Amino acid sequence: MAEETKIGVVSCSGEDCLGGTISRLATRKMMDEIRPDHTVTICLPLFLAGGQEERMFAKEYPTIAVDGCSKACAKRATEKYSGKVNSVVFVSDLIGGEMAESPALSTRDLTAEHRAMVDKVAAEVTRQFDVILSANCKEPTASKASSCGCGCNCG
Ligand code: SF4
Repeated sequence: MAEETKIGVVSCSGEDCLGGTISRLATRKMMDEIRPDHTVTICLPLFLAGGQEERMFAKEYPTIAVDGCSKACAKRATEKYSGKVNSVVFVSDLIGGEMAESPALSTRDLTAEHRAMVDKVAAEVTRQFDVILSANCKEPTASKASSCGCGCNCG
C-alpha cells in the first residue's frame, strides 16, 4: 500500500471578522470530518512564534492556505517561513467581501446561513485538497485496478 499523503491546511487567525471565523471552522471541518486521515492543521500563531515542527511540516508537505480576505495572512506567513503554498482559498471570494468583513462570531451564535458558508468554504478546500492528493499519488492510476491506498481516490 502506498504511503498516505498528508496535507497541511493553514487557516488565517482573523479574530476580528467573519471571514476569519469561517476560515477557522472550515479548516477544523477538514480535520474532524472531511479528510481526517490526511489533514494536518497548522496553528498560525505558533507558526509565527517560531514553532519549528510546524515550519518543517510546511516545508516538507503540500499546504493549502485558507484566508479570510485578500490580505492573505496565512499564505504570506507560510511562504515567508516555509515555502510556497500549493493553493489558497479566499473566504471573501466565496461569501463576498462585505460579508467576510462583518464582525466575527462566537461558534454558539452561528446561524444556518453561517454554517452553509462554512460548508461552502470546506467544499472548495476539499476540491483543491483532492487535486493535490492526486498530483502527489506515488502510483499512477493506469498501473492498477483498484485504489492505491494513498488517499487520492483513484482506482
Ligand atoms: S487574511 Fe484577512 S481575515 Fe485573515 S487574518 Fe489576515 S486580514 Fe484578517
